[in-house]
Amino acid sequence: MTSTLLLSDRDVARFLPMPECIEVMAAALRTVAEGAAVLPLRTVMRLDGTPNAFAAMPAILGRGGDAALGAKIITVFPGNDRTPFDSHIGVVLLFDAEHGRLQAIADASSITAIRTAAVSGLATRLLANEDAAELALLGAGVLAMPHLDAVRAVRPIRRVRVWSRSGERASAFAEQARARFEGEVVVCGSARDAVDGADIVCTITAARTPILEGAWLAPGAHVNAVGASLPAARELDSDAVARSRLFVDRRESTLNESGDFLVPRAEGRITDAHILGELGDLLLGRQRGRTSPGDVTLFKSLGLAVEDVAAVRHVFEKASAAGAGTSMAFGGLRAGH
Ligand code: NDP
Repeated sequence: MTSTLLLSDRDVARFLPMPECIEVMAAALRTVAEGAAVLPLRTVMRLDGTPNAFAAMPAILGRGGDAALGAKIITVFPGNDRTPFDSHIGVVLLFDAEHGRLQAIADASSITAIRTAAVSGLATRLLANEDAAELALLGAGVLAMPHLDAVRAVRPIRRVRVWSRSGERASAFAEQARARFEGEVVVCGSARDAVDGADIVCTITAARTPILEGAWLAPGAHVNAVGASLPAARELDSDAVARSRLFVDRRESTLNESGDFLVPRAEGRITDAHILGELGDLLLGRQRGRTSPGDVTLFKSLGLAVEDVAAVRHVFEKASAAGAGTSMAFGGLRAGH
């Protein structure tokens, strides 16, 4: 028998604190930019007549015997709104590159929330003005608290404005946020009020049509656009994209999966050249991010399997060293061994 470590949401939270996860994401995206990752587009199967989907996201991160092989298998059910269930449920699998052993199976809901926010934190560190202090969160679901943690880890945030469609979830978020954040937390009645004068804006909703207008953005603002991840869905209007210096997690994913990019391109407002680079290009110094304090910068996040694989490997290594997680015997050894 070989043993595989089962890693729960608690294990993930314990071994993937936000500041550490930001560094893990930086290393993974640098590896992608160096060409040392295999990263096919994700396979998304839509469930007929619903907004829900089942997705597979495989990747190989690194080269040779030290590479991490993995895949996230996940359901994305925006239809879980108003049920006790998360919108993202599944597992992240980790295999080694030496013998192909299944090393770990980890909870995907927690990994997805933490790594997604960590990548937004990384983009904020690379693109936002250094003194950015006012944060607007549009959306108050699972991704809201990790985004507050991620942005606070990289910029001196003094005030958070939060807006959500229902308002109730924004109020519940604000209450929880006040318990762990020393700054001010304000619930806004409209997305426009939340964005007005904000230095950093995170769009983290399941909206299919724009909730953020470019005209609302203050000069110098940085936007992390995280929610829309299908060609037909967008959170940003075309002005917001056209007026920004645009960076992405991966160019190929953006050209295939991002309504926030594809719609303004179809309207003739932008071309493919509007994508100035990937976060990895910024990390390697191949591209300039912000050129002046007045630039509006935009990071379009779609989420990459390498982020999940890097996160699960980090959690696996730390949990193994700490004797945490639950070991489970699996097949995979020849008879007699
Ligand atoms: P949740 O379901 O927990 O929260 C969804 C939020 O979106 C709520 O605040 C909800 O508002 C709001 N919302 C839902 N529908 C609409 C709408 N039509 N218009 C405006 N607001 C709406 O989701 P998560 O926090 O887990 O994820 C948020 C988004 O991010 C999802 O679209 C998800 O697919 C995407 N995502 C992206 C990732 C990436 O890597 N880029 C990774 C993970 C998720 P209320 O409850 O107040 O009604």
